[in-house]
Amino acid sequence: MVVGERKPIAEIKEMVRPYKKILVAGCETCTAESMSGGRKQVAELAAALEMAFRLEGKEMEILEISVDRQCIHEFLLDIVDQTAEVEAVVSIACGAGIQSVAERLPGKPVYPGLNTMFIGETSGAGIWQERCQGCGDCVLGITGGLCPVTRCAKGLLNGPCGGSQGGKCEVSMTLKCDVPCVWAMIYERLSQLGELDRLAIYQPPKDWRAGGFTGPRQLVRRNV
Ligand code: SF4
Ligand code: SF4
Repeated sequence: MVVGERKPIAEIKEMVRPYKKILVAGCETCTAESMSGGRKQVAELAAALEMAFRLEGKEMEILEISVDRQCIHEFLLDIVDQTAEVEAVVSIACGAGIQSVAERLPGKPVYPGLNTMFIGETSGAGIWQERCQGCGDCVLGITGGLCPVTRCAKGLLNGPCGGSQGGKCEVSMTLKCDVPCVWAMIYERLSQLGELDRLAIYQPPKDWRAGGFTGPRQLVRRNV
């Protein structure tokens, strides 16, 4: 899923300061799961903005909506309907969802209420960790299902580096927290699978063109 973190209220407040009536729009899929953009966070953001403006003596009318997915245009009809009566929209979906809303509303300002962080997993209560950079050429099949592109601080395809100590990445010292060395994890995992011989196979430099470094990517399926 896409993990997001809500922007500071002060930043959102400055974006919507010119308006008197706005819509806060949430997304019930990824950003709801990362507790930054679902129905509950829509209500929290609307209440916080209303209060912040009231303290300045300004009444801001805020409508609320949350749809299943803002990144799919079919789900945006309810948002489009509601925007007829507002001056601007704050979306707390991921960057893709925000852009989909903006595309559907050519004459209406649409602002981001959160920062899109990464593709990750929910690792525990209140913990989300990055797991994929969408590199377009997945190597999980040769690394035991653990992503070195994302989880190795150097993105090494032939690890570990000389800084790996006791299963920890060398950035543990600079970050002053325990960051596992993913290459130590890959070693353990391949050892469990009886596939340690994979580590002897040299991985050539990756072709990063599939990772979107040559422009925006698109996927077209002609048979759909
Ligand atoms: S190798 Fe690429 S596609 Fe596979 S998990 Fe890592 S970043 Fe994502
Ligand atoms: S210690 Fe491990 S995870 Fe950290 S940079 Fe080196 S190989 Fe990558």
